[in-house]
Amino acid sequence: MHDPAALRSMHQGRFHAQPSIFVAPGRVNLIGEHTDYAEGFVMPAAINFATLAAISPRADGKIVIFSENYGEEKTYDATALPARPSSHWSDYPMGVVSILAGEGHKVPGFSLTIWGDVPLASGLSSSAAIGVSSMLAVLSLAGASYPGPVIARLCQRAENEFVGANCGIMDQFISANGEEDHALLLDCRDLSFRLAPIPDHVALVIANTMVKHSVVGGGYKVRRAESEAACAVIASHRPGVPFLRDATLEDLEKWGSEMAPKSLLRARHVISENLRTVAACDALLRGDLRELGRLMAEAHISYSQDFEGSCVEADAMVELAQDLPGLIGARLTGGGFGGCTVNLVEQKDAPAFAAQLGRRYTKRFGMAPEIHICHASSGAHQLE
Ligand code: ADP
Ligand code: MG
Repeated sequence: MHDPAALRSMHQGRFHAQPSIFVAPGRVNLIGEHTDYAEGFVMPAAINFATLAAISPRADGKIVIFSENYGEEKTYDATALPARPSSHWSDYPMGVVSILAGEGHKVPGFSLTIWGDVPLASGLSSSAAIGVSSMLAVLSLAGASYPGPVIARLCQRAENEFVGANCGIMDQFISANGEEDHALLLDCRDLSFRLAPIPDHVALVIANTMVKHSVVGGGYKVRRAESEAACAVIASHRPGVPFLRDATLEDLEKWGSEMAPKSLLRARHVISENLRTVAACDALLRGDLRELGRLMAEAHISYSQDFEGSCVEADAMVELAQDLPGLIGARLTGGGFGGCTVNLVEQKDAPAFAAQLGRRYTKRFGMAPEIHICHASSGAHQLE
């Protein structure tokens, strides 16, 4: 995969034109869950699953997009862009076109071939990979370029404003700005970031629980409202706390009794998670993998018990990994209530770790998890 020559011949065969080719990766979040909308910290890494976008100009004023993954082609008129999404995968590249047009760029007609190996809708952010790779492709045709953080913001807007997905900035940011063999600590307040090396003897093993529970009353919305209610209590005493990012554990000791019990727990997760995420970056920078593993374990407990964002399957996936050789740290990653765990594992042990974890999980739940052995990879760039 990621073979630009194969994509080039695919594009040429279909569109009879020489393309430029761009790539953007998926990602996994190592630590920092539900901190983004509190203007806090996250620490993702780009992974070696990616989406490639091949683009060439057209003279007929059409935008023709083909996804190899869906085996489907969709045509638009470059002079009459759609105002609304159509609940179709092509909304992702068309969202990018729409945002760029709104920014005053002249987007000519083009042919675009999309081909990726990021598992779709599995929590590894295939949406950011298609968005960011399309963004680089369309920008190249419009004769424009932006720094990585701006690309990330434009791609987030494409998902928020056009596609209609209410996502934060993390996915697009790491896809656009990731570095090979590095995690990226992102401050969601001002988009400043720090890169921290992941030693090459460490693998990122991503284990999909294969479940995604719908939570009665809407898990995400309710959790967010609960943590924001806690923040409002603190702000009523200390006006300099617009977001939980600005709150401290001492604030909770002082005013926690004025909060609904669930709100207090949610806030304790968010405040402590911010501290852990920054500490995790410091640990990586020092090369202290033991401390990083400990922080990941603590983060999982906090996510599961205080935030109540985990589920039986995800707790089991973390628990079943604990005594396997090579494990450095394991936790549930992503929005919660299912999805994937991320495991930092010694590279030499990773294949056996993945096989054993898979067997144990299958035995417990009667379904086989998808397990991917990944490494931290570079962010989006032009391939040829
Ligand atoms: P995730 O980002 O976790 O993979 P999302 O639901 O946010 O899940 O995004 C998945 C959607 O992105 C797919 O359903 C599809 O519409 C679009 N998409 C991602 N990759 C591709 C691709 N290679 N070809 C076409 N559409 C894609
Ligand atoms: Mg997504």
